[in-house]
Amino acid sequence: MKIHNRGLLIVISGPSGVGKGTVRKALFERADHDLIYSISMTTRAPRNGETNGVEYHFVSKEEFVRQINNGNLLEYAEFCDNYYGTPLDKVQEQLDKGNEVVLEIEVQGAMQVKEKMPDAVYVFIAPPSMKALEERLKNRGTECQELINKRLNKARSEIQMAAEYGYIVVNDTVENAADKIMAIIRAEHARTIRVLDQYQKLMEE
Ligand code: 5GP
Repeated sequence: MKIHNRGLLIVISGPSGVGKGTVRKALFERADHDLIYSISMTTRAPRNGETNGVEYHFVSKEEFVRQINNGNLLEYAEFCDNYYGTPLDKVQEQLDKGNEVVLEIEVQGAMQVKEKMPDAVYVFIAPPSMKALEERLKNRGTECQELINKRLNKARSEIQMAAEYGYIVVNDTVENAADKIMAIIRAEHARTIRVLDQYQKLMEE
């Protein structure tokens, strides 16, 4: 008998440049997971090597606004002059099937999800130091200096949000951070609040 009926929603978030995308990728490269990545929608242009429907659903601003107005997004945020959002139907569908869904989103969006789904798992990826964060943003090489400065300023305020999360994972090394997230997911599965109902039914059998 399956103990869980509904899947777990895992929200991975943190400041810009902290490496949450890299940690998320490392997580998905592991052989021992059952996670489903929620592909976001964005109005930003694809970077070199990015494919529509893989990293993001790339859409026009008009299309994004239409999705907002139709209530199709679980959350959305404007980040560095572009919109990013999570399509609601896909997330619901996977959770209903009992699958584990991972969102990798910035902090404003994560706080909107927390309002709507407080029992999801909220993981804040933190940099080992402010200097490390600055270096990462500068070395990423995908943005111009103006955008780097914008993201750096934003990251400074985002760092303050860590207390809102259930877990803080320092991204000292990518593998370490991915290990810790795996451990968090496993532990979350065993939480009494998540299993008690089903466990009681099992005892009555
Ligand atoms: P990038 O442009 O580097 O791919 O992403 C910029 C930021 O947007 C990152 O912090 C990323 O985690 C965040 N992001 C990606 N998808 C979403 C989303 O669906 N919603 C929100 N709120 N943020 C997102």
